[in-house]
Amino acid sequence: MQCYVFFGIQGSGKGTQAELLSRELDFQHVNMGDLLREQVSQQTELGRRVQDIIARGELVPDDLIFEIIDISLLPGCQGIVFDGFPRTVNQAEYLVRHFEVLQVFFLELDEAEAIERISSRRVCSECGANFNLISHKPLREGVCDICGGDLAIRKDDRPEAITKRLKEFYEQTLVLKEFFSELRLLSVIKASGSVTSIARDINAVVHQVKH
Ligand SMILES: [Zn+2]
Repeated sequence: MQCYVFFGIQGSGKGTQAELLSRELDFQHVNMGDLLREQVSQQTELGRRVQDIIARGELVPDDLIFEIIDISLLPGCQGIVFDGFPRTVNQAEYLVRHFEVLQVFFLELDEAEAIERISSRRVCSECGANFNLISHKPLREGVCDICGGDLAIRKDDRPEAITKRLKEFYEQTLVLKEFFSELRLLSVIKASGSVTSIARDINAVVHQVKH
């Protein structure tokens, strides 16, 4: 089974690009975070195991991740676009053993841009609705369109927290970048442009890969 892989920090537009490419190629978009949440919310046997592990503050072990991917692949799917997987070298090794990896896209965003994008997010302190001062502005500044509640910045979205998250993310993914780079499968894509221009850069690589 052929697949593409997307990496990138929050705010890099990785999910959007993975979705666009999967629609274009008629591949299944496999978002690992969504798959885990789905299992938990459906309270499957696997979901309950995942829930216990997360509740203990531990990482979901690789064999459980592989099992969830296995049962989530749609019958007759043409190929897969992975998003949020692999996270570790062990997972990456599993990936290349079980799938034909066509290319791995690493969406790179510099710190200033990530801070700008993420710190423009606002959340309603009453109903939890999400807004963004750049891409999804509330009708009235600081006020929720839905319930009139006050809009706030999540603690996680403050510049200090973003800087810390970026640093952790780049440290963790450095080893994966090296892994795929050695296999000549890595494409680093600048994620600072518009959704359309990033998609164009990705498509150019996809067309080269597909002879
Ligand atoms: Zn609200």
